[in-house]
Amino acid sequence: MASTLSDRLSRLVKTMRGQARITESNVQDMLREVRMALLEADVALPVVRDFIARVKEKALGQEVVGSLNPGQALVGVVHKELAATMGDGVSDINLATQPPAIILMAGLQGAGKTTTTGKLTKHLIERRKKKVLTVSADVYRPAAIEQLKTVTKQAGGEWFPSAPDQKPHDIALAAIDHARRHYFDVLIVDTAGRLAIDEALMAEIRDLHATLKPVETLFVVDAMQGQDAINTAKAFKEALPLTGIVLTKMDGDSRGGAALSVRQITGAPIKFAGVSEKIDGLEAFDAERHAGRVLGMGDIVALVEEVTKGVDLAAAQKLAEKVKSGDGFDLNDFLAQLSQMKKMGGLGSLMDKLPAQMAAKAGQADMDKAEKDMRRMEGILNAMTAKERAHPALLMDGKSKASRKRRIAAGAGVQIQEVNRLLNQFDQMQGMMKKMKGGGLMKMMKRLGG
Ligand code: GDP
Repeated sequence: MASTLSDRLSRLVKTMRGQARITESNVQDMLREVRMALLEADVALPVVRDFIARVKEKALGQEVVGSLNPGQALVGVVHKELAATMGDGVSDINLATQPPAIILMAGLQGAGKTTTTGKLTKHLIERRKKKVLTVSADVYRPAAIEQLKTVTKQAGGEWFPSAPDQKPHDIALAAIDHARRHYFDVLIVDTAGRLAIDEALMAEIRDLHATLKPVETLFVVDAMQGQDAINTAKAFKEALPLTGIVLTKMDGDSRGGAALSVRQITGAPIKFAGVSEKIDGLEAFDAERHAGRVLGMGDIVALVEEVTKGVDLAAAQKLAEKVKSGDGFDLNDFLAQLSQMKKMGGLGSLMDKLPAQMAAKAGQADMDKAEKDMRRMEGILNAMTAKERAHPALLMDGKSKASRKRRIAAGAGVQIQEVNRLLNQFDQMQGMMKKMKGGGLMKMMKRLGG
């Protein structure tokens, strides 16, 4: 696994302790590391050169304040500059025009245009309360037209039929006419892509653009494309006035350097990130967060959000108060905690968002085991009666504890030892909860995030 920029710089930093500012002599070595990190993240070479020059200018002469050493200060400068280069705040689809607002989807075949059209349809319907029509101008692949029909239905939008014997230009005119007559707010036009740039494809999409006069022309690009993204971006920028970028397949393991390249080449804002194959896998692009990913610093912000998203805050609050008031933490609470963990998508989904070095430490095998343990524990807890969960003492030192435990073990299909183990764990956890005195989860998250 490639080491992260923070690792690389901290190694260098050891040799330059005590220096109070970033100077011409210490910046060269550090910038070399930054350059390597960006190339590893698949940022295109010319873009890296440009970027490094800008960072150098900004970094030179920076006072290294407080506890920060030159290496950390430079990471700060790089992070800020990356975020500034990739974005100017989060921007949504521009619909400020006479309806129907037309969105033209452009990009190579396989970039994710059709999938993204479905996701956007859902986004516009649910978040912006719009009536959305989609149409495919991909007359070369009947399957693509069918695929659009499927995703549009999933999204709750309406699909306008088109066929391989029609001309893209005629399809566009018919769809606009239909959208006007049926009062659609938005018309999204999906287009044909090729495996590589070719002149005929570019001429066709230029013609479509002239016919449609779209308010948004979105360039859809695969984040895994890495170095090649730069050529694709150049070709599309020359053919069309792009108004926005959608970066797909951000759930893959690329470090997403394509974002920087594409943004720099096209000058268009990155509006959305595709994060799964599913219809709801679309997120507003967050440049700050993405800068951390490119640098290999892990997606801490996403992790914190993920962990708090599934949590029922009212229930967490109640639990915290319970512990504080000394009412005690019982097995019902324990069960509630386990099911909250599950709601957060389990441990596995959290792993994906941890910085690489932390994730490597935890190890996939450990995580799999932990997930399995969680499910077993839940099974055991569910085999108890509500009364037993509310009064764990019944199982720990009650007269009938042995027969109760036997019944629970049989119910959950486990050995008695496992029931004992769970009770021990619960005992330890109870002790821990008392120590944390409320605010447990939040405190833990703060520690993680800060
Ligand atoms: P098009 O040829 O540009 O219309 O591309 P498609 O929409 O057909 O997508 C090509 C493939 O990429 C399909 O298998 C999609 O499921 C997949 N895909 C699209 N967007 C994403 C994404 O954000 N994440 C993942 N994992 N897969 C995606």
